[in-house]
Formats: sequence, structure tokens, C-alpha cells
Amino acid sequence: MDLEESTNITFADLGLCDELQKSLTSLGYEEPTPIQAVAIPAMIKGSDVLGQAATGTGKTAAFALPILQRLYLQDKRGTKPMALVLAPTRELAVQVSEATHRYGKFLNARVVPVYGGQAISRQLKSLSMGADVVVGTPGRILDHLKRNSLALSDLETVVLDEADEMLDMGFAEEIDAILAKLPDKCQVVLFSATLPDKIQGIISNYIKNPVHLKIQKDALLKNTSPLVVERAYVVQRSHKHLALGRVLDIELPQAAIVFCRTRDEVDRLTETLNGRGYRAEALHGGMSQEQRDKVVARLRSNTAELIVATDVAARGLDIEQLTHVFNFDVPSSPEAYVHRIGRVGRAGKEGTAITFAEPREHRLLVAIERLTKKAIKIDKLPTLKDLRVKRMEAIESRMRTVLEESDFEQFQVVVDRLSEEFDIVEIALAAIQSFYSVSNAGPDFEEELPDLMQKIPSGSSKNRESRSYGSTDAGKKNKTFSRNESSGGVRLYINLGHNEGVRPKDLVGAIANEAGINSRDIGDIEIKNSFSLVEVPGQIANNIVSALNKTTIKGYRLRAKIDEKSFSNRHDGGGRARSKKKR
Ligand code: AMP
Repeated sequence: MDLEESTNITFADLGLCDELQKSLTSLGYEEPTPIQAVAIPAMIKGSDVLGQAATGTGKTAAFALPILQRLYLQDKRGTKPMALVLAPTRELAVQVSEATHRYGKFLNARVVPVYGGQAISRQLKSLSMGADVVVGTPGRILDHLKRNSLALSDLETVVLDEADEMLDMGFAEEIDAILAKLPDKCQVVLFSATLPDKIQGIISNYIKNPVHLKIQKDALLKNTSPLVVERAYVVQRSHKHLALGRVLDIELPQAAIVFCRTRDEVDRLTETLNGRGYRAEALHGGMSQEQRDKVVARLRSNTAELIVATDVAARGLDIEQLTHVFNFDVPSSPEAYVHRIGRVGRAGKEGTAITFAEPREHRLLVAIERLTKKAIKIDKLPTLKDLRVKRMEAIESRMRTVLEESDFEQFQVVVDRLSEEFDIVEIALAAIQSFYSVSNAGPDFEEELPDLMQKIPSGSSKNRESRSYGSTDAGKKNKTFSRNESSGGVRLYINLGHNEGVRPKDLVGAIANEAGINSRDIGDIEIKNSFSLVEVPGQIANNIVSALNKTTIKGYRLRAKIDEKSFSNRHDGGGRARSKKKR
């Protein structure tokens, strides 16, 4: 089943108990995302589900909420889990476990994460105390099954999250061994951004008559307005507000909407933007119609310059002054994207749509491009230098206007007095400098931001090849990221190799888990007898090295360093954070 943007469906319509609805309200979720609107009732009904959905679509809640709904209906809780979620990396396992815990807080759900790299004793203790939902990486789950510290006999649901990623990381055998132990009636749910052939084996062996969900409707030709310029920036979540500020200062929108996923995000971002001197107003479903009308009126009358809104609240808005739409989060479906950016480019006017994507969200951008049949240009974040140039241009233009209006006689006396002591050019420069500092944003705005553009392979954009980091499969040598100067890839030397029994998936797992990066960002791997070489994105190579140097593989202490030879290929290190002294 293809999914379109869901409208007018509430979490209550999906058959979720009050406790779950309460936690969703407290998290600021206003309505189900498209994948949730279909997956939740299907899972509650007991069907197996095959969901083609990437990060950012709301897939975690799509499978966690029905699991929790089942938990709510249970009379008593034993020590054995009723649900198991398999995830490719420690990072994702922790994320899923935390989200499930949050959704199930009013049900006192016992959610236990288990993953490689964490002391097994701690996990043995948590499991023995009883768990309702276990979330783990395949290797460690299998480990617990072998030790009999985890029983699957009471399982009612098993979820394979990011199945393609798990297979890319070489977990096929482990997954097969785990699934072979499932009780007969266990519901099987598989989420995967892509459904390559190698997943078909799992599907045909373990999934029965699934409800098949696909996030985008490829066949539907949905062009966005040709008058709208679409761009995206790739930034870590923690840098998004700084990136937004930087881009706002470069773009100088007349009026804009900034879209967020939840009410809480809307409130937080509005506060941050106001604290930085923007005139921003919140707009979300928790506000009365009267309050919402007032907010829109303030934007129309130029009293506000930015509206920070959820999708629900901004539905149908038609504001003539709007020049920009910013997606602070990539929307949960391509249709929602089309809907959001349709706020600009109306009535023959030009508009700009700018999306801030986290590195893991690139697949959502590709899905959007596929739907709109239009490339989203992935751009380099404006640098401090760009910003200064822009500010100088703005000052020049402002000075020009003042000079042309020549309405400054009252200040003549100041110039007269100062010119007795100073040169007239110096006085002019001082005047400009004081104007510059007044119009300048706070110092934290001047932080240099790491440019993650290189981390994202864009779907249909022309320059895809030059920055595509393909996935690394066990031993397989894909042409992964090309080592031309624009790729920014560097090679890491790692002190372990065949002698220590190291396999590609051990290296991928260690790098993905320890440094918290997507395995798709890891390039070629060469394993020699006494050492290995791994290609990683240059911008984060140092972080990866320090994370790896704190870890072990197969009990061996790992030592990593940047391979000398790759220095010539490195990007200049100017992207790293450095604080800037104000003049
Ligand atoms: P996921 O695709 O599960 O990684 O979710 C992506 C993000 O969307 C997470 O930050 C969730 O908290 C958020 N999210 C999930 N469902 C909803 C919803 N119905 N409304 C708003 N935000 C959501």
C-alpha cells in the first residue's frame, strides 16, 4: 500500500489506549505520520508488516506503539519479553529503546537495550529482572540466546528495524538464527529503507501475508512549483539552530515559515530565535483558533518575520508575504514536504525552500526528489566569511540609502568635533563599525559549523558520484566514496587484522557504534594480516579515531590513526569549530 499524506486521522482513531495517547500528547505529537497511520492499525490487528521507510518517517513509533498497546492488553507480566526489536547499531538500539520507554511511560513498560560493547553482566542483570520489550543488535541478542539469558518463547512481536542496514553489516546469519527460534504465532515486522534481493530470503521464510507499506508514491507525478528554489543543508541535530540562524542571516527572508515536527520543538525553537533577536511566533495545534489567527495577522502586518509551525497548524495557510519555507526537520513523508513548500511560489511569485537534514536522513531527501521529480541541491553551509560579506553588503546598501536621503544634518556637529582630532575616513569607518556591532547577532552565532555536506549522497542531483559513499558489505569492494578532492575521504590505519580474526563487519560495527555514524558513510575496507585500512569521511576522521581508541574488537585493544598517505587527500581542517574573537 502506498501512503499519501494522512489527514484528519488522530492517534485515538488508531485504537491506542489513553495512556499511550497521553504520552504522545506530552511529547507534542499532533497527528500520526503516514507510516504510523497505516502500520499501527495493521499491527494491532495482528498482521505481519513489511514497511519501506527510512529514518525520519516516524517508523519507531509505528512499531513501538502497537507493541505497547499489546502490552496494555496483557493481564499479567512475566519475566520473558513479549517483543523483540533488532537494530543494526548500538546507537539505533539505544534510540529505539529510549523512544519505546518514553511512549510507554504511563504503562510502566520495561524496555531493555542490549548491544555489543556494553558489559554483559549489566545486561544479564536487567534481563533477569524481567523485560517487556528487548531492543538489541543481532550479535548480542544471539549471544544472550546461547547463554539462555534471553527467552523468545513468550514473544508476540519481533521487529527488524533497518533490515537492509543489518544485512549490509553482515548480520544475515545472526538474524536467521534468531528468527528460526521464534514461536509459531509471533508477528514479524520488517522496516527497511530499501528492499534489496538479499532481504527477500527473510521475507519469504519468516513473513506471512504482510501488509506492505511504502512511504512514497512513485507513480504520482507531483511537481513542486518551478518558481521555488529547493536547497538542503546537512547538519548534526545539535548544530541545527546555529545553521538556521546563519542561513536566515544570509537569506534575509521578508517573511518565512519554519516547520518543525512537534509542538515542543516549535516552542523551543521560537524561544531560541527570539532570544537571538528574530521576531518569531509559534503556531501549533495546541493553540486556539483565535491565537493562531493573531499569529498569522502579525506575519501579514510585518510585526513578526518568522512563524515556527507544525504541519497541522500550517495546513492551508496562504500568506502573500511569504518568501521562504524552512524545514527544520525533514518532513516525515514526501507528500508532507510538497505540502509544506507549497506555502511559497504561489500566484506567480518566486520562493525558496530550505531543508535541514541530519546525515541519516538523506534517504528521505532522495524519496522527496523521486516524488517531486526535482533535484534538491545539497549546499555547503554559508561560512562566517560568507556571512561577513553579506553583512558588509547590507551595510553598504543601508549607507547608500541614508546618503541618498541625506537627512543627517543633526549629526554634523559630531563629525565637526571629531574631525578636529581624527581623519574623516577613520570617522566614517568608526561609524560603520558601530553600526555593524549593533546589527550583529550574539557571539554564539559566530561559531564555525562543521560542514557535513560531504556525508550526504543526493539522489538525483548531478554531482552524486563525486560524493557518494556507498555501503560496505563484508569483503565486498563497492566503488564507495571516490577519493577525489571533493570527497574528503581519508584512510584510517587500525592495528588489528586477519591475525586477530577481524572481519569487515567488526570494523564497520565498531566505527558505526563507537563514532555514531551511519555504516553507509564508511568506504573501502582492506584487511591485512596485522592491520586494516578503512576509508571514512575526512571531516569526522579525528572523532572516529578518538572513539575507536577507546574500544576493543574481539577482546583486542584497538589503536587507530589517520594513515599518513591520506593527508594529501584531506579537506582543509578549517571546518572544525573554532571560536572567533569579535573585533
Ligand atoms: P523515526 O523515523 O522513528 O526516527 O522518527 C523521526 C522523528 O520524528 C523522531 O524525532 C520522532 O520523535 C518524531 N516523530 C515520530 N512520530 C511523530 C509524530 N506523529 N508527530 C511528530 N513527530 C513525530
